[in-house]
Amino acid sequence: MMNLLWLQSGGCGGCTMSMMCAEAPDLLATLDGAGIDLLWHPTLSEATGAEVVDLLQAIVERRQGLDILCVEGSLLLGPNGSGRFHMMAGTGRPMIDWVRDLAARARHVVAVGTCAAFGGITAAGVNPADACGLQYDGRQKGGLLGPGFRAGAGLPVINVAGCPTHPNWVTETLMLLAGGDMAAGDLDLYQRPRFYADHLVHHGCPRNEYYEYKASAHKPSDLGCMMEHMGCLGTQAHADCNTRLWNGEGSCTRGGYACINCTAPEFEEPGHMFLETPKLAGIPIGLPTDMPKAWFVALSSLAKAATPDRVRRNAATDRIVVPPTVHEKRKR
Ligand code: SF4
Ligand code: SF4
Repeated sequence: MMNLLWLQSGGCGGCTMSMMCAEAPDLLATLDGAGIDLLWHPTLSEATGAEVVDLLQAIVERRQGLDILCVEGSLLLGPNGSGRFHMMAGTGRPMIDWVRDLAARARHVVAVGTCAAFGGITAAGVNPADACGLQYDGRQKGGLLGPGFRAGAGLPVINVAGCPTHPNWVTETLMLLAGGDMAAGDLDLYQRPRFYADHLVHHGCPRNEYYEYKASAHKPSDLGCMMEHMGCLGTQAHADCNTRLWNGEGSCTRGGYACINCTAPEFEEPGHMFLETPKLAGIPIGLPTDMPKAWFVALSSLAKAATPDRVRRNAATDRIVVPPTVHEKRKR
């Protein structure tokens, strides 16, 4: 049996909201089945006040073991590195001090969501709270715990990035840890679990046919591919959103929203409007992962020239106006 402590730091709580949507089985059944005992979670647990402070103190003093520390939300270093922008209620201590002490006792440390992983939305703009992630500050390694941090079992912070993170990315990570089945090689360059980060959001997107022909959406609600004009980063975003799906059936691109690459560090500062594609000489600056620019330019113009009328016309409407042809006889 492993135990789990969950803390919420500088975030919106959306990752917990998302995790509560875990289904088939639900969250508590999943934890139970994986042999994980929930020591405390601010939303799910009854314990509060002094009881919780006693638990945290017991962990720091090694009277209570800690297997998995999950942190949701970014770590607020300000002002001037004191952490006093976020004091943990009833303790007179900054949250960052508690997190440092608890991480030093934990066998595994998991950053839940892009805030805890890299700083995320909380670090956007001029970042007045001096928000950062557990082991990253944007793309820079370091963060609160420092680049060399390793939890008791030897792994760095596991970054279950996403804004919010998919509930099953969290439960699958926890199950792998409980089963002793996660090693350093199971994490990617940004320490995200590869079981979801080795995929691209583009994989399985129902707009793929439009993408192939560069039949593009020009306005919200158009059916076409959103890469060329509407800011979609699905071809560069590391996540399995269109094959794992959310709430059993959804994803951003299926809902008509461009992918904004929320699993990546610094996604909150793209340098342009989220729903616009920045271009140079008419060519999108952010090209699909692994694709040389010359190929993209050549293939796009070929594909556009070959676009079937059905695909071209449907791309610019909010419903199918030209159905695929039904052939009475199979062509031989
Ligand atoms: S990662 Fe996104 S959803 Fe999660 S706490 Fe941060 S802002 Fe909220
Ligand atoms: S809308 Fe985005 S994810 Fe979907 S096919 Fe186009 S580029 Fe790929």
